[in-house]
Amino acid sequence: MNNKEQIESLGDNHFSMSIKTPLREDAFDKSDDEKIKNIQHHFKMIMEEMGLDLTDDSLSGTPYRVAKMYVKELFYGLNPVNKPKLSTFENKYGYKKMLVEQNITIDSACEHHFLPIIGHAHVAYVPKDKVIGLSKINRLVDYYARRPQVQERLVLQILNDLQCVLDTEDVIVSVTAKHLCVSSRGIKDQSSFTTTLEYGGCFKEPSIRNEFLKIIEQESV
Ligand SMILES: [Zn+2]
Repeated sequence: MNNKEQIESLGDNHFSMSIKTPLREDAFDKSDDEKIKNIQHHFKMIMEEMGLDLTDDSLSGTPYRVAKMYVKELFYGLNPVNKPKLSTFENKYGYKKMLVEQNITIDSACEHHFLPIIGHAHVAYVPKDKVIGLSKINRLVDYYARRPQVQERLVLQILNDLQCVLDTEDVIVSVTAKHLCVSSRGIKDQSSFTTTLEYGGCFKEPSIRNEFLKIIEQESV
């Protein structure tokens, strides 16, 4: 296989090695403003290479808009300074059953094609001594989604952090999402979607896992 073939087949297989997003040592040496300026320059080059006339009013602002969108919105979750504070509280009520936070919006992008991954995450945990504010779960999911991703790694990153901060293995994370790199290029399958599920502790027990799966079948309230 030559190099280009290897790159293309890797992208279609959505293969990933580690739970950590591969980042350079110097990933955040530059400020956001410097990054926006540089990406703006490079994106302008891409557009020009494709033959677009950047003096046209409608196109002239696109490189800046794309650069700002990459750094501040789509990929803000690359930078650890943007990680939400996951403060926990003492489990004063003594609630010891499953808590499910479901239908959390996933707005991500695949790292092999930089195309959107859109869908939902469902997260549950069984509290021991600590509980976490509900919206913190949504914020954590969004933080990890907002970076170039593979869906398998996304669920593992969310699971790992929640297990750490809640001090329990009893956490389950599921993501169901549509990959535009599958629907609008390559195989061009418009109807398929992808589900990833990762869990630890009591969720290894099929009956407890099934209870979670049954709850997330409800589409809305
Ligand atoms: Zn892709």
